[in-house]
Amino acid sequence: MTSGGDAPGMNAAVRAVVRACIYYDIQVFGIYKGYDGLISGNIEELRVRSVANILSRGGTFLLSARSDEFRTKEGRIKAYENFKKHELDALVVIGGDGSFTGADIFSREFDIPVIGIPGTIDNDLAGTDFTIGFDTACNTAAEAIDKIRDTASSHERLFFVEVMGRDAGFIAVNSAIGGGAVAMIVPEHNYPIEKLIKRLQKGAANQKASNIVVIAEGCQLGNAYDIADQVKAKLDYFDIRVTVLGHLQRGGSPTTMDRVLASRLGVAAVEGLRDGKSKVMVGIINNKIAYTPINEAIKIEKRLDPEEFRVAKILSI
Ligand code: ATP
Repeated sequence: MTSGGDAPGMNAAVRAVVRACIYYDIQVFGIYKGYDGLISGNIEELRVRSVANILSRGGTFLLSARSDEFRTKEGRIKAYENFKKHELDALVVIGGDGSFTGADIFSREFDIPVIGIPGTIDNDLAGTDFTIGFDTACNTAAEAIDKIRDTASSHERLFFVEVMGRDAGFIAVNSAIGGGAVAMIVPEHNYPIEKLIKRLQKGAANQKASNIVVIAEGCQLGNAYDIADQVKAKLDYFDIRVTVLGHLQRGGSPTTMDRVLASRLGVAAVEGLRDGKSKVMVGIINNKIAYTPINEAIKIEKRLDPEEFRVAKILSI
C-alpha cells in the first residue's frame, strides 16, 4: 500500500515490490487508498502487467489516504480481519513516519511482519540518506527558481521562494544550492532577520543583479510573506516579490534518481521479508541497502548537513 502524502516514485516502488514478489514466486496484492483500503477490503491481486507503464508516472496508482479509523483499535481490528480474509502474510507500506507508526502498531498488535519503504518528498526520515520523491521535488523547486531568476534579474528584484518540507529544511537546502539562492531559511535553525538583512545589503553593495531567498515552510520567522514584510520594513529600496511553490513540488514524473532508489528499495523490501525481517524500514545509507527498526527511523531526528550550509554561504557572495 501507499499511505500518507503522495510522492513521485511511489509507483516505481510499487512496481518493484510487485515484480520482485513475482520473481520470487510470491503472490502479491495491492491495497488501495492506504489503511482505509485495508479497513474496507479494497484489495486486489496485482500481476506482472498490473504495474506496466507506471515507472515514470508521478502520484500513486494505488491511491493514498490519511485514515482516522486506522488510528482506533476497532479500525485496526477490521483491517486485520480483511488481512486474514485475503490470506495475506506480510505488509509493505510505502509512506512517511505516520504510516510507519501505524504499521509498527499493527505489526505488534497482530504479530504481522511489516516493512516500510520511505516515500515522502520531505526526506525527513532517519535510516536512509534519501527518501523516494525528494530528488524529484528538489529538481522541480530548482527548475522553478531558475525561471523566477529570469524575472528577478531582468527587473533587479528580490524574490522570496517558499518550498515544501513541513518541519524539515532538506528541500530548501538542496533547491537553494541547486538554484543559486543568496540565502536559505530553514525550520531547524533560528535565523535572525538581521542576519538576512546584512547578507542582502552585502549583495547590494557587490552589485548582485538578482536575489533569491529560499524559505522552507514551517520557519520560526514565519512564512515567505511574513519574512518579505520584515525585510521590506528595513530595506525599502528592494523591489520584493513572493512565490509559494506549493503542491507543484509533489507532482511530476520521478527523476532517474528517484526511480532507481524506489526500484532498489522495493526489491530490498521483498528480500528483507523473505529473510524474516519485520518492523524495519528499508533505506539506503552510503549507497548500500540498510534496514533500520521502524521505531528508530521515526524517532531519530535526521539532521541537516552543516557542510551544505558552508558551501551555500561560500557561493552566495
Ligand atoms: P507524509 O510524510 O507525506 O505526511 P505520513 O505517512 O507521515 O506521510 P500521516 O498522515 O502522518 O502521513 O500518516 C498516514 C496514516 O498513517 C494516517 O492517516 C493513519 O491512518 C496512519 N497513522 C499515523 N499515525 C498513526 C498512529 N499513531 N496509529 C495508527 N495509525 C497511524
